[in-house]
Amino acid sequence: MHAVECIPEDFYRQTAVLGIAFDDGDMTRLGQYLDLLLETNRMFNLTAVKDPEESWNRHILDSLSLLPVLAKEEAKHVIDVGSGGGLPGIPLAITMPETTFVLVDATGKKADFLKHIVEVLELDNVTVAHARAEDIGTKNGGFRDAADAVIARAVGPLQVLLELTIPLAKVDGIVIAIKGEKAQEEIERAKKALHVLHAEVESMDRSTTGTVVIIRKKEHTPQKYPRVPGEPKRDPIGGKHKK
Ligand code: SAH
Repeated sequence: MHAVECIPEDFYRQTAVLGIAFDDGDMTRLGQYLDLLLETNRMFNLTAVKDPEESWNRHILDSLSLLPVLAKEEAKHVIDVGSGGGLPGIPLAITMPETTFVLVDATGKKADFLKHIVEVLELDNVTVAHARAEDIGTKNGGFRDAADAVIARAVGPLQVLLELTIPLAKVDGIVIAIKGEKAQEEIERAKKALHVLHAEVESMDRSTTGTVVIIRKKEHTPQKYPRVPGEPKRDPIGGKHKK
């Protein structure tokens, strides 16, 4: 069965609460995307969610929970770090055609899948970068200070994620992280990283599917960040924490 045939009853009510109005063809393209994601998932792992109905909430709604923030911010250039199978970037790119999205992933197979999606869905507002966030965020990396908003879901604890994302945002731009129930704890552990990277947590809102944390970049990132690939995770700013 195609995903577009099993949209959960609550989906439209939830998206209406977020203030989202769909254009003609959006739902078809979102459904097409889920079909491709779930089909490819049988060959290699892109997501733990296998049920089409459940994927409308866990993937589409969860991604679209960032739409009101991006709209309010009037974000024109967005970078999705560690996009994996295209989340949250692809659903947002489908519903925000006036905004450009760069989807970044370090894994070749995932970048190839993303390029395939962009081609099939004819998403002319999306480019895919097969790269590590640490490399593209340096002075000559091409994307330092580039984005109005950097978005990420499930790419690691905030303490580590900040070093990967903050350099990519412009000064006064934002990082939006989709987090789970432990968001507050992650923020506590990221205090030093926030300070060192000149960033501040602006808000933390529970959505129906997760927690949306908005971080604002207040000043330019010190030249030494991001450090070389792997280093932000191996030796997080502020030190490692025991579980
Ligand atoms: N955001 C997606 C995928 C999460 S899995 C979702 O929510 O479903 C994390 C992804 O981040 C993986 O695809 C991995 O390849 C990528 N990744 C991890 N570290 C990265 C880095 N430093 N730079 C770019 N991509 C990275």
